[in-house]
Order: sequence, then structure tokens, then C-alpha cells
Amino acid sequence: MSSVAVVNPATEETIVVLEQAGAEETDAAVSAAKAAFPAWRAVAPADRARLLRRLAALVEEHGEELAQIETRNVGKPISDSRGEVGMVADVFHFYAGAVDKHHGETIPVGGGVDMTFREPLGVVGLIVPWNFPLNIASWKLGPALACGNTVVLKPAELTPLSALRLGELVLEAGIPEGVVNVLAGKGSVVGNRLVEHPDVAKVGFTGSTEVGRAVMAGAAETIKRVTLELGGKSANLIFADADLEAAAAAAPYAVFGNAGQDCCARSRIFVERSVYDRFVELLVDATRGVHVGDPADDATEMGPLISAQHREQVASFVDGDPLFRGSVPEGAGFWFPCTLMEATNDDRVAREEVFGPVAAVIPFADEDEAIRRANDTPYGLSGSIWTQNGSRALRVAREIDTGVLSINANTSVRVSTPFGGFKQSGFGRELGMHALEGYSEVKNVFVAT
Ligand code: NAD
Repeated sequence: MSSVAVVNPATEETIVVLEQAGAEETDAAVSAAKAAFPAWRAVAPADRARLLRRLAALVEEHGEELAQIETRNVGKPISDSRGEVGMVADVFHFYAGAVDKHHGETIPVGGGVDMTFREPLGVVGLIVPWNFPLNIASWKLGPALACGNTVVLKPAELTPLSALRLGELVLEAGIPEGVVNVLAGKGSVVGNRLVEHPDVAKVGFTGSTEVGRAVMAGAAETIKRVTLELGGKSANLIFADADLEAAAAAAPYAVFGNAGQDCCARSRIFVERSVYDRFVELLVDATRGVHVGDPADDATEMGPLISAQHREQVASFVDGDPLFRGSVPEGAGFWFPCTLMEATNDDRVAREEVFGPVAAVIPFADEDEAIRRANDTPYGLSGSIWTQNGSRALRVAREIDTGVLSINANTSVRVSTPFGGFKQSGFGRELGMHALEGYSEVKNVFVAT
């Protein structure tokens, strides 16, 4: 077994040195999940719901501890971590309630009775990224368990701590051993083994489009089901008829939240030319107000990036004279300032996912151009439209090729609503009742009468 140092990105201190699972441990975890499957799928729905509800209650009870773990390991502001852990509990409550509401149907046919069943898939591999480690793990675990699957969960190398703690709470909740197996390890080893393992029926993957492509190709060998939640390059469309003050106040948080390490970051800010100068002035003012600092501080709104290597990658997007560059704390920590860059939609900063606090600000002439430019990207995950014209809001919303949109708001994710991408942002949906589709198969049974 190799080991890896898990680091606090705000201090660069090692939190713990962790042994990494290899292919052998992955095979053992898959075997354990396979062995646990028949009994888990047979648990009565009300009992499965009760266990999920108990897990939700334990997450609430240990909420502060989990939030502190997440903040230390990811460098996330503590207020964000608290919100995310709150969502994790809500996700388990939601899927506890969903256990007996995702069911089959009867279909009129000649000569008999026809009915459908929703069957679990078996063992599912869940691979999650480092930007929302516990949150995204719960989006996959909730529906997977509700449908009666057993699970091998692989957190990202850099941020395994909250998932490992959750694994302990799963057992404390009374969910039988083997149903949920958490493995800290490398993507190229553990992740890859889950993708190729013949006993894994599905991989639920969240991460970069590049790795998503490899997961999809690898899954082809065993015709594995995949859900892919990948990268984004979302648009924030500011029309001249918007409440400009409200749009400018929200825009920084739509891209600098989680230090820009957010697949839903609205990192292309398109502004109608007639209000461009005024809006940029408001935007710069609002960005200046983003509170960057110690993630453990209640008032902090933006922490450091995840690693030194990632900071280098983010820095490669910034050249010339930015419209605005914020300040960062001195000393240790992988800090990067909030940065606004004037750009065209063809510039690299507007084409590629930066995954850091860097936004491209781009003028447009009219509604047609706004739609054309917003769609001129290989991605299609999220986005916002700011206008006070209700018809325009819905007209434009229908035209944007993206899985999630908000009008006069900058949020993307709710427990009960579907989340996922168009185009190279992936396919399949998480959250809400839609996620259950990805963790079950439809079986049709005909009975001759
Ligand atoms: P990543 O693709 O490098 O890693 C994601 C996960 O895949 C990690 O657990 C990693 O260990 C694993 N992995 C790496 N190589 C693998 C392989 N060959 N086979 C199987 N698994 C492998 O992504 P990241 O850097 O951790 O996260 C950032 C990316 O995630 C960004 O592109 C971001 O947009 C995306 N993301 C998407 C969503 C969404 O819901 N669409 C949400 C959050 C993050």
C-alpha cells in the first residue's frame, strides 16, 4: 500500500498521512458489496427508509464535526461547509422518503396483465471529486441506497476525510456492513478498477470532462451504466433591463464561491453593451467586497485553492491587465485573488474551465447574440439570466443548451430538483426523483390470464 499526505490548503500543514487502497483492496470492497447485495435489496422499503433517516439524523448530530473536517481538508469557508453538511442530511431525508415512491406501473395489454418493476442494479461504484466531497457523495449514495444497491465510494485523493467519517456514521446508523464501502485511493488505481470491474454494474462519476471521457470508454468493455457529471463553463447573462444592482451583487458569488472550484461557476459574464460600463463598475465594487481569508472564520466568503499545482494551473489563465484583481492573505496557503478579465468568447479564459476565481467579462449587442455566445461552448451545465422582462427570461431560458438555469438568481442545486449537464458536461441527473432513474433498471413482466 502506498500512502499520501492529506493537506490543509489554508495552512499547507499535513492533517494526516493516509494509506491508499490499491486494486486488491478495491476487489475486496467490490466482493463485500456483492455479498451484501441480496440481503440489502430484500430489506423492506419502510426499514430501508428508516435506516436512511437514521443516517440523516446522525449527519445532523455530527454536523459541526463534519463541517470542520470539510473546511480543514478543502479550505472551504466554514459557513459554506455548514450549509453543505446541512444539505447532506436533507439529501438522506429526501431519499428515505423516496424509497417507496419510485415504483412500477401496470400497462394495458391483450391476453394478460403487464407490469413493471424498478430493480436495483447491484454493486455501484461512486467516484467523487474534491470540490464538494461530502455533498456530492451524498447525491449519489442517497438514491443508490434507496433503490437497494450496494456501494463502493471513492473520494478524491486530496479530500478523503469527510467520506471516511461518513462511512463510520453509515455503520452507526445500522446499515449492514458491506452495503457501503469507502476506499481512499488514486483515481488511476481504485477509480479505474471500479470502472473495469465486471461485478460493478454502474459507475456514478463526478469530475473533469477529461477523466469522464476515460470512464465512459472504460465502461464500454462491460457495458456498464454510467452517470457523468463533468465540467462546465456557464454563462451569466446580464440584460440591460435587469436589476443591475442585484445582478452585480450576486455575480461574484456565482463564480468566486468555493474559490471558483465549482462546476456551476458562471465564469462567463455576458453584459449587454448599453449597460456594460455601468455594470462593470458595480461588479468591480461587489467583487472588492468578497471576504477572502481564513476558512475557519465565520465571516470568510472565499478560501484558498485546493493545491499548489492547481494554483499554477489557474494562474496560467491570467495575462495582461485584468479589470480587477483582489488581494489575498500573506503567508502559507494556496491563495489566489478574485480576478475579472475583459475577454471575447474566443479567448482561452472563456473557452476552458478555469476552476478558480477568474471570470471573463464579455459584452453583447442583443438577445440573439447573447444566446449564440452563451451556447458557443462544448459545455452545458448551469447558468443564469438576469432580466425584469418575464417573457424574455423564459424565451432565453428555452434557448440555452444547459441542464440547470436560474433566472434572477445564481443558485444551481436543490435537494428535490434534477441536476446535471447537456453536451460535454455529461449525462444523467442527480438529486430529486430523477436521480433514482440512474440507480435502477426497469423490468417488465407479463402474466398470461
Ligand atoms: P478529476 O476528474 O480529476 O477527478 C474526479 C474523481 O475521479 C477523483 O475521485 C479521481 O480520483 C477520479 N479519477 C481520476 N482518474 C480516474 C480514472 N482514470 N478512472 C476513474 N476515476 C478516476 O476531477 P477533480 O479535479 O477531482 O474535480 C474537478 C472537476 O470536477 C471539474 O472539472 C469540475 O467541473 C468537475 N465537477 C463536476 C460536477 C458536476 O456535477 N457536473 C461537480 C463538481 C465537480
